[in-house]
Amino acid sequence: MTQSTAPLPLPRTSFELPDGRRIHVYGEVRGVPPADAPRSEPTALHMRRDELTASWIAVSPARNVRPHSSAPSGSGTVAGSPAERFRCPLCPGGPEIAFSYEAAVFENRFPSFVANPPPVPDPDDPRFAPSAGACEVVMFTERHEGNFATLTPAETARVIAVWMDRTRELWANPRHAFVMAFENRGAEIGATLSHPHGQIYAFGHLPPIIERRVAALAEHRAARGACLSCAVVAEQRASTRVLAANEHWAIGVPFAPRWPFEVHVRAVRHGLRRLADLRPDEARSLADALYGVVARYNGLFGFELPYMLIVHEAPADADDWHLAVEFYPPNRSQRLTKIRASVETATALFINDTLPELSAERLAAIPLLPREVHPGFVVDIRA
Ligand SMILES: [Zn+2]
Ligand SMILES: [Zn+2]
Repeated sequence: MTQSTAPLPLPRTSFELPDGRRIHVYGEVRGVPPADAPRSEPTALHMRRDELTASWIAVSPARNVRPHSSAPSGSGTVAGSPAERFRCPLCPGGPEIAFSYEAAVFENRFPSFVANPPPVPDPDDPRFAPSAGACEVVMFTERHEGNFATLTPAETARVIAVWMDRTRELWANPRHAFVMAFENRGAEIGATLSHPHGQIYAFGHLPPIIERRVAALAEHRAARGACLSCAVVAEQRASTRVLAANEHWAIGVPFAPRWPFEVHVRAVRHGLRRLADLRPDEARSLADALYGVVARYNGLFGFELPYMLIVHEAPADADDWHLAVEFYPPNRSQRLTKIRASVETATALFINDTLPELSAERLAAIPLLPREVHPGFVVDIRA
């Protein structure tokens, strides 16, 4: 895994679209955004406090009209088919990006959070809050098909560099309490477009489960005087639930997974808290880890396993947080998917129908093809 070649420069050029949204083009710029574009107003966006659970709910009515090109179950349309690609808004020349690109990021046309949110319905009612934040779409490649198992080493390295660049900028905004890069892969997860892409959300409030994670780290530090994440990484690497040896990352099924084939990729180095902290060798082995996890997933049942991929970066003051990428695939077998039903939805207590050690054994047994290592990229902001 060791590679001494220095990372390559990746130019970033930013444009403002006619409707005020920003687009960042990474690599060679092969066109210009159109001078006119359909404007979509973020209607009625706001947050509401659910007093019974003391948590915030984001109200985002415009999301119901966003485009779908993933083939819904039973529709007869084959995912990735020419008919689907024809109407893919993320392919070059589509309504989102008018030209060929290597990687790109644009502000979501259908956001849940925006930099300048509309006023709340009643400013005197403390149960309302503005939906301040950001929602960005990250285009992994211009190719309509692909995933971390089939993207080239250069494409994956580019995605990691783009994540580092965008999250660094979003965390620098003092109005953002949490920044989360993620990927919803597959129609079963509700991914409305199958073109390889992810998203980044910046939140004005710390989301409930993130608050809980921060508290767990603080409780452990107070009780033991040590880092909980370091202990979790050591346990994972020494366990039978480990999937692959990796100098910089603990890769495996966690001790208490919520999902049947859940896998975590967690930084070994204490102090690697955010994507922007990645050293070149750590970024290269993260690319290798992403490839390994998704290639195993695709080998598990003989089809591209749907999953949620979450990049967990440290909120402010969470010194014991280690950067992690967590995968939550919904399948518990070839045909059955886990549905968050009454118990899990009502109580947040998950019931896992699989034995984590057995899931790890099955995933670890899937052979991987050797893969070349790309030196990685460092974003060079041009404009
Ligand atoms: Zn496409
Ligand atoms: Zn640590």
